[in-house]
Amino acid sequence: MPAQARGKVQIDVEECKGCGLCVESCPPKCLELLHELSAYGVHPAQYVGHSCTGCGICFYCCPEPGAITVYRLAVPAKTARVQKAGGDHAAAL
Ligand code: SF4
Ligand code: SF4
Repeated sequence: MPAQARGKVQIDVEECKGCGLCVESCPPKCLELLHELSAYGVHPAQYVGHSCTGCGICFYCCPEPGAITVYRLAVPAKTARVQKAGGDHAAAL
């Protein structure tokens, strides 16, 4: 089972020049080049939809400003039920 994604990537196909640097540099290999050509006649990168760690390596190696945006997803806080006199309360650990 793939690890839960800790990040998400958005690629602007109008800015991407299809160089493939992000695809080659992504440690979990969750980027690929589309088979379809963009309006500029290149194969733009796309996120395959899972396993992104949010490391940002693809962002830093991309030569096109604005082509790739990395979002780090918030990790759900663990909660516990705390029994107190007078009622139950949820508390973050
Ligand atoms: S942020 Fe890291 S893991 Fe996510 S797509 Fe970019 S290089 Fe891959
Ligand atoms: S590194 Fe940037 S320009 Fe090159 S394929 Fe990836 S998103 Fe496109």
